[in-house]
Order: sequence, then C-alpha cells, then structure tokens
Amino acid sequence: METTTLKDIKTQTDAKFPLFSRLEKREHEQLVVCSEPQLGLKAFIAVHDTTLGPALGGVRMWHYKNEDEALWDVLRLSRGMTYKAAISGLNLGGGKAVIIGDPKTDKSEGLFRAFGRYVEGLGGRYITAEDVGIDVQDMEWVRMETKYVTGIPRALGGSGDPSPVTAYGVYMGLKACAHKAYGSDSVEGKRIAIQGAGHVSSHLAEYLSKEGAKLYICDIDEEKVNRVAQNTGAEVVDPDRIFSLDVDIFSPCALGGIVNDETIDQLKCDIIAGAANNVLDDEGRHGQKLVDKGILYAPDYVINAGGLINVASELEGYNSERAHTKAARIYDTILDILNHSEENGTPTFQSSNILAEKRISAASRIHKIYASKSHFSGRLGEMYMRDRD
Ligand code: NAD
Repeated sequence: METTTLKDIKTQTDAKFPLFSRLEKREHEQLVVCSEPQLGLKAFIAVHDTTLGPALGGVRMWHYKNEDEALWDVLRLSRGMTYKAAISGLNLGGGKAVIIGDPKTDKSEGLFRAFGRYVEGLGGRYITAEDVGIDVQDMEWVRMETKYVTGIPRALGGSGDPSPVTAYGVYMGLKACAHKAYGSDSVEGKRIAIQGAGHVSSHLAEYLSKEGAKLYICDIDEEKVNRVAQNTGAEVVDPDRIFSLDVDIFSPCALGGIVNDETIDQLKCDIIAGAANNVLDDEGRHGQKLVDKGILYAPDYVINAGGLINVASELEGYNSERAHTKAARIYDTILDILNHSEENGTPTFQSSNILAEKRISAASRIHKIYASKSHFSGRLGEMYMRDRD
C-alpha cells in the first residue's frame, strides 16, 4: 500500500499554488501587482515583513526579460531590506518595488503618478524611495500622488544625496573591523585599497586620509580617480591590480560580485570593508572561504546602511547631524557581528542574519503585550484601541 507523506502533500500544494508557496518560503507578507496598461505601468510591490514597522525600500525600474525575473528580484530585494533595517536598529520593515520597463525610453509622468497611487493605496504599509533606474524627476511625479516617499531633495525638505552618510557609516564600520583585527581602531599608517572613486568613496577617502591612512585608489573613470587622488593624496593604481595589492584593508566601493572565484585567491588583505552591494559573488561559498583565509568581512548590507539610515531620518523630519550620529552606531553593530562570527565559527553575513532575526523575533514578542493608547503605545496599541472603541 502506498503512503502519502507530509513531503508529498507539500509538493502537491506547491504545484497547485506556486505563487503562494514562493511567498511562504521566504515569509513575504504581501505582493501587490500594479497594472495600468493605458499608461504602460507593470509593477510589483513586495512587502516582506512589517514586524518592526512600515516596509521601506526603493523602487527600481529595469528592462526585465519577463515577469518571473521581475518577481524574483522584488521578492529577493524586499527580504534584504527587512534584514538591513533590522540589523541597523531601525523601526522599519522590508519592502521593495520594481517597475518593468526601460528606464531610457519608457518613463512618463502618467506611469509614475499611477505607481504613486498604488503606494498611497497601501496606506503607509510600504514607503518608497529612489533606486536603480529612477531619478529625482520620477520621484517628484510619484510624490504628487502619495506622501509615502523618502529620499527627496534637500530643497523639498528631504534628505538629499545619501552618500556622505553612507561613507561615514562605512568609515565607522571599517574602524570596527580594525579594532577587531589589530586591537585599535586607528587607521593611521594602514594601507587601504579603495575600488571606485565615486560618490561614496570620495567622502570615505577623505575620512581615511585625514586619519593618516596610506590610500591606493582605482576607477575606470580617469577624471574621477585623479580628483580623489588630488584631494586625499591617494596613489592611483590600475583597476586590474586592486585585488592583488599588498594592503591591510580592501574597500570595495564600485561593483557587486567582485569577491569571486577569480579574485579571492589574489586578496592579501586582513579586512574587506566597503560600500558596494552584493560584494560576495556566492555568499555561502565565498563567505566561508574568507573565514578560512582569516579575512574579516564586514557584511555589505550592514556597513553600507548609512544610506537607509539617512532616508529613514526623513520620517522624523530630516536632520543631518542626527543621521550621522545614527550611522556611527554601525561601529557597534559590526563589532557585535564580528564577535558573534568568532564565537560561533559562522561567516559574518550569516551572523548578521541571525542577529537581525533575533531583533525581529524580540519585537514580535513585545507586540504581544497589550499597552494602553498612549503616544508610546506603538502601532499595535493603536490597533487594539480602534478595535475596542
Ligand atoms: P558611484 O556610481 O558614484 O561610484 C561608483 C564608481 O565605481 C564610479 O566612479 C565608477 O566609474 C566606478 N567603477 C565602475 N566599475 C569599476 C571597475 N571595474 N573598477 C573600478 N571602478 C569602477 O556609486 P556610489 O553611489 O559611490 O556607490 C558605490 C557602491 O556603493 C555601489 O555598489 C552602490 O550600490 C553602493 N551603495 C551606495 C550607497 C549610496 O549612498 N550612494 C548606499 C548603499 C550602497
């Protein structure tokens, strides 16, 4: 007689409800499909987890090959935002939106205003911001239809360019790594290789050179790299040589996926700490290999959280000093992660995920406790009271 196992039942259910099983697998709360054919709008908004607060994350416009690719991206990115906000001590959940289309040819006022309507319709469960393929003009259109927008220009009362705060957070995170590796967080005399001479690294290089670090920098854009070198005394190197330099610290501030099978054996540094997203080509494999090589890796989404901290500050009325003070806490967060990783033998990105989940789990316990309707009672307190009024 054939028996049906729980696994069989799960497989059958997954086949019947592939979309729901996808949401269930990574615990996404909500997926919004936005369609306005007359205006060319095809978009997804994914709300991953709102235990800590409203889901904040940018909207990306990209010429996805098909809707499955767009769906995969929005689910992956929204989940990433949950972890980023949680580990950064923000009372925000994780969300993201993707608009399917070519950012060069498919933009229009109507499309972005229609998208803004969908955001407004979520009543604050999702707060949007600028991401890849989106510019200030697009956000101004979105803003015409919804108040749930962050990352707006300084002139309009927003936080403006996030890179100075991102750079400050990277600087603090890098110092925490130095503290762990060398017993002192001073970077004076340390040899530091920076990949990229863009928005974030130009500010980062200034912090590091002021403290007396010996800098090496590269960029594919000669003008940019020369400008940073002139301001900071950094030595310009060829982009191909950046991985194999004999340095103490490597700071990737350009592209993702640069710690990969080809580069990992070239690295001679003690620390990797930079602003770039998705530094590890294969998180599991390369994360473990860095542990084996004795290289401290500051998880990208933690050390570059200054940008998120900066836009999140807009929700309380933007204040640059307060945003910098909050970004300085990246120092302690990175140190906690490095200690956890050392004590448990886990790669740092894994330790970071564990600590983020711990915070979310603690918050869900807190939300179970009834509190009266006061200014401090929080979102759930207000909900209980509405139910009882
Ligand atoms: P940016 O575009 O201003 O700078 C990136 C620089 O990298 C450019 O000057 C580019 O020419 C250079 N570059 C590209 N390919 C290169 C290569 N092969 N070798 C050397 N240099 C190369 O970007 P940014 O705003 O400074 O951001 C840098 C990184 O940090 C990105 O990965 C970004 O996603 C991430 N990040 C930025 C922020 C922020 O606030 N700007 C926040 C979080 C994460």
